[in-house]
Amino acid sequence: MSEKDSNVREIRINPVSPSESVLVATARGMRPRTAEKRVAEVPVDHVAKCPFCKGNEDKTPPTIMARPSEGDWKIRIVENLYPVLGDDRRDTGINFGLQQAIEGYGRHEVIIDHKSHGIRMHEMDVSHLQMLFQTYRQRMQELYANDKRIRYVLIFKNFGEAAGASIKHTHSQIIAMPVIPENVYNEIHHSRNYYEKHHQCIFCTLIDEALTFEATIYDRESGKIRRKIDVGQYVIERGKKFIAIKPFASRYEWEVHILPLKHESDFISTSDEDLEDLGMVLKNTMARLDRVIGGAQYNFFLHSQPHADAGEDCSASYHWHLEICPRTSIPTGFELGSGLFVSTISPEDAAQRLRDVKL
Ligand SMILES: [Zn+2]
Ligand SMILES: [Zn+2]
Ligand SMILES: [Zn+2]
Repeated sequence: MSEKDSNVREIRINPVSPSESVLVATARGMRPRTAEKRVAEVPVDHVAKCPFCKGNEDKTPPTIMARPSEGDWKIRIVENLYPVLGDDRRDTGINFGLQQAIEGYGRHEVIIDHKSHGIRMHEMDVSHLQMLFQTYRQRMQELYANDKRIRYVLIFKNFGEAAGASIKHTHSQIIAMPVIPENVYNEIHHSRNYYEKHHQCIFCTLIDEALTFEATIYDRESGKIRRKIDVGQYVIERGKKFIAIKPFASRYEWEVHILPLKHESDFISTSDEDLEDLGMVLKNTMARLDRVIGGAQYNFFLHSQPHADAGEDCSASYHWHLEICPRTSIPTGFELGSGLFVSTISPEDAAQRLRDVKL
C-alpha cells in the first residue's frame, strides 16, 4: 500500500446515483467492520434431500422453463415456493392519507443455475454461463410480453446466507414487479439528466474514462500539475464486448460492475455471441474475486431499462449493467442511518489486487 493510499478519507459521490455515496476511510487504525462469514467450500455435486438437485423435481413447483427443453436439464426455472409478490388479487385496503400501498402483484421465480449443487460461478463453463444469460433474457422477455401490468423485471442472485440465500444449491431469482425500483429509477433519472446536458450516455462516459490510461489535471491559474490520475486503474477484466470495472464510488469494498462496451440500454437486445463474451468476463471476474476474498457471500443484480410502456424512453441515456456486490462485512448503524457506505479499502487498491491475480 502506498503512502497516499494508506490515508484516504473522502466522501465520493456516485456519479450515476448521487444519493448513493461512499465514505472512503482507509486511515491506519480505522476499525474495520465486523466481517461476514465466508461460505465454506463444499464441492458437492448432489445432495439427496435438496429440492433443486436432479431427481427431486417433484419437490419443487412445476417447471416453467428448462434448458434444454427436452431430456436432461442443465438449467431449470420454477415458481418460488415463498413468493414475495404473487398474483392473488386481494385488496390491501390501506390507502389513507400518506399510507398509500400498491398491490403486491407480480411474479417471483427461481432459476436453478446448474445441476451441480455446490458449483460456483467461476467454476461453470463459459458456454454454460452463456446459456444461463440466454435463459435470463428469454424469461425477462416473456414476463414483459405476457403481462402489461409488469413495469420491471429484476434478475438477481444471492450467494450465502448473509446475502439472503436460504437454499445452498446454486440459483438466481427473477422478480417481475408492478413498480420500477427506486434505485433503478434514480439511475434512469440521473443518467437522463446527464444525457440532456452532455448528449452522451453517462455509463459510456464512465467506460471511456476507465479506458483512458492517464489524465493530468492542471491548475487553471498557475498551470502547475494539480493531480495526476491513472484512470485505467479501475479496469478489472476486459472482453471483446464487455468490461468489468471497479466503481470509483463503490458501496461495497469489493463491488465490481460489468457493462457492455457498446451502448445498449436493454439486456433483452444482447446477442447470443455477446452473451458468450459476458459469460467469459463474468467467469474471470468471479475467479478474481474468489482468489482475493475466497468464499465471500455476494449478491449480483442485473439493471436494464424498463419496458417502453413503463415510463419515458431512456434507450439513449441508460446503459444496462450487472452489479456484483460481495458482502464481506456487516453494515453499521452509521451506514444504515446515513445511507453513506463506508469503505476501509480504497477502490483503487481493491481494483489493483483484483487485477494482479494471475488466472
Ligand atoms: Zn442441490
Ligand atoms: Zn451507454
Ligand atoms: Zn445499477
